Amino acid sequence: MKTDERIAGECCWCERDLSATIQGIGASDTEAILSQGTFHEVHLPKSERSINAAMTKPGSVALTEGYHLMFATCSEACTQELKKALSLENGRFEKQSNLNAIP
Ligand SMILES: [Zn+2]
Repeated sequence: MKTDERIAGECCWCERDLSATIQGIGASDTEAILSQGTFHEVHLPKSERSINAAMTKPGSVALTEGYHLMFATCSEACTQELKKALSLENGRFEKQSNLNAIP
């Protein structure tokens, strides 16, 4: 098990250290479990892997807008790969947006 600190410091897709400029996306998750945790391991069966996402906080604007999860990535390339992988999951992550577009 990785610590929350470790998860927060790395790209959810390639697991390289995040630089100061964090990219990423927010996404809905129709299977999101209400969790008290800061992070949630998201299994992507179509990609045969699991990645870590930050849970949006109960009562936050992001959650109200329908974004359950935040995925932090190190680069545009990882963001694109991540989006592709999420799109394969049969509409489970239907709603996606760049992090800076999320309230
Ligand atoms: Zn990356």
